[in-house]
Amino acid sequence: MKEIKLNLTPFGTPVLREKVCLIKEVTDEHRAILSKMAQLMYEVRGVGLAAPQVGINEALIVVDAGMGLYKLVNPVIVKLEGSQSMEEGCLSVPGVGVKVKRSKKVVVEALDEFGKEVRIEAEGLLATVFQHEVDHLNGTLIIDHSSVIDSLKNRKKINELKKKGSDEKLPKSKSRSSKM
Ligand code: ZN
Repeated sequence: MKEIKLNLTPFGTPVLREKVCLIKEVTDEHRAILSKMAQLMYEVRGVGLAAPQVGINEALIVVDAGMGLYKLVNPVIVKLEGSQSMEEGCLSVPGVGVKVKRSKKVVVEALDEFGKEVRIEAEGLLATVFQHEVDHLNGTLIIDHSSVIDSLKNRKKINELKKKGSDEKLPKSKSRSSKM
C-alpha cells in the first residue's frame, strides 16, 4: 500500500461543506487513514479530527479528549441529553474561537476500525468533541453555531481566512479552547 500523507484542508475548501459518504465496508485503507488522522491530530495537539478536515469525503473520525483514542467509522449520535456551552476551536477555522451550546451527554453508535459495532456514552468535553466531529461529517462548522457577538468578534479573522485560505501556520492556541 502506498504511504498516505495527510494535511489539513484549508478553510474554504468545498469538502469541508459537503456531507460525507457512508462507508459500506471497512478496509485496510480506512484503517491506514484513521491511523494517519490520529497521528496528525496528536501532532497539531487537537482533541478530534474528521476526514473532511484532511480532504477525505468519508465518514471517519478520530477523537482523544484525554480519555483514550477513538477511531470511528460512520458515527451517529443516537441520544442527546442536557446542555452545556464550551469555547471551541476548529483546526479548519484556525484562530477562531466560538462558544457553542451543545448537549451535555450523548450516545454515539459507530463501527470501530475493524467494522465491529460500538456504542459510546460520553459527557462533558468528550460529548462536545463527538458532536463537533459529527458536525464536520455533515458539512457544519463552528461558525454556523456562532452567536451574534461571536460572529462580530470573528468576522475579520474569517474574512482573512476566506481571502488567503488557512494554509498559513496554525495559530498558537490563544485561549483555552480545544482544537478539533
Ligand atoms: Zn473542527
